[in-house]
Amino acid sequence: MRVTTAFNRLLRLDGVHVRQVDIGSHTVTVTVALRRRALLCPRCPYRTMARYDTRLVDSRWRHLDLGVFKLEVRARLRRLRCPDHGVVVEGVPFARPDAKFTRDVDDLVAWLATRTDKTAVTKLLRISWRTVGRICERVVADVLDEHRLDELFVIGIDEISWRKQHHYLTLVSNHRTAKIVWAGPGRSAATLDRFFAELGPERTKQLEAVSLDLGPAFHKSVNDNAPDVTICADPYHLVALANRAVDTVRRDIWQQLRRLPEPGLSVKFKRSRWALLKHPDTLTHSQQATLRLIRRHDSATWRAYQLKESLREIVTTRDTDDTIAGIVLDRWCGWAQRCRLEPFVKLARTIRTHRESILATVRLGWTNGRVEGLNNRVRLISRRGFGFHSAEAVAALVMLSCGPVTLRLPHEPKPE
Ligand SMILES: [Zn+2]
Repeated sequence: MRVTTAFNRLLRLDGVHVRQVDIGSHTVTVTVALRRRALLCPRCPYRTMARYDTRLVDSRWRHLDLGVFKLEVRARLRRLRCPDHGVVVEGVPFARPDAKFTRDVDDLVAWLATRTDKTAVTKLLRISWRTVGRICERVVADVLDEHRLDELFVIGIDEISWRKQHHYLTLVSNHRTAKIVWAGPGRSAATLDRFFAELGPERTKQLEAVSLDLGPAFHKSVNDNAPDVTICADPYHLVALANRAVDTVRRDIWQQLRRLPEPGLSVKFKRSRWALLKHPDTLTHSQQATLRLIRRHDSATWRAYQLKESLREIVTTRDTDDTIAGIVLDRWCGWAQRCRLEPFVKLARTIRTHRESILATVRLGWTNGRVEGLNNRVRLISRRGFGFHSAEAVAALVMLSCGPVTLRLPHEPKPE
C-alpha cells in the first residue's frame, strides 16, 4: 500500500485525500487536498463554484498526535466571495472555522477539560491553557442544544466567581433536568435581563418558579421581567448563609481560645471547621468525634450548629401545605433571636424578611441534593477555569460540563 493511501485510512479526515507525507524529527506533516470542487463559506451555508483566488500559503491544523510525533495537516485553500461575509477563506469539513486544530483535537480537548485538571490537559496535549479556553468556546458554540431554553418551568439563578477580584458569571439552571442552560458575564440585574431577553416573552410566560439567592440584583430583574413567577429562596444559599454564621461563631471562640495559655485546645478547635459545616450524613468518624467534643465542651458553637442543622431541615423538607413549616420557621427565628449569638440574630432578621420565598421553597420542594450536587460541580469547574482569558471561556467550560451537551471522543461514531 502506498504511504499516502495508508495515511488516508489512518487519519480519517473528512472530505480530503492525502497528497504527501513528510516525517520530520518531531512532526509528521501530511499535505491534503479537498475532494469537493464547490467552495463553502465557513460562517453560513452559502456555496459557490466561483473561486475568488487561491491563498499563497498552506493553511495548517494540528491533528491527533501520532505516538510521540505531532501531526500537522496542510492544505492549500481557496477564497470565495460570500454575499454576507465578503471575501473569506473556504471552510473545510475536518476543522471548525478559524481553528488551528482539527475537529477531532477540539473534541478531545473539550472532553478532557470537563473531566480533568489544567496540568493534566496541557501537559498531555502540549497546548496552553488559554488555547484550551478558546477550544471550549468553539466546541460549545457547535454542540450546545439549541432547544435548551424551551420547556423551562422551574429555574435556578446563581452567580459564581471565575477569578479573584470580582469577576462573576451568572448561571441559569433548569431544575427539572439539573443542567445549566444559560451563562453570562457579570452578576447584576442587567446580566439577568439579557437572559430574559433571549428567553423572550412567550417562554417567560411558561415559567412557574425561580429560585434565587437573597441578594437584590436578581430579584429586581425577575420582578421586572417575570412579575407573575413565584420566587423561591434557593435552599443551597440558605444553608450556605447558616454555615457562614456557624463559622463566625466558631472563629470568635477560637480567637478567645488562642489567648489561653494552653495551645493544644485552639489547634484542636481549628480542625473542627469541616465537622461543623458538612452535611451530618457525610461526616467521617473523627469528625463525628469532634462534634461530640463540641457538644460536651462548647455550648455556644453547639447551639450554632443545632440552629444551622434545624434550618437545613426546615428548608429542605417538602410540604405542599406550608402552614406547619410557617409555624416552625417562625419558632426558629424566635430561637435564633434569643440565642445570644450575634451572627444568628442577624440571620433571623434576614430569614424573616424572606419568609414568603422560603415557604415557597418548602411548598415546591426543591430536591436539595440535586441543587447542591449541581452547585458543587459548577463551583469545582469554575475554579478550573481560573487562568482562562475571558468570562466567555469559563462560561463555555461550565456549559460543556454541566449543560445539555453530549461530547464525543474522536473514536466514537459521529452523530447524524
Ligand atoms: Zn457567508
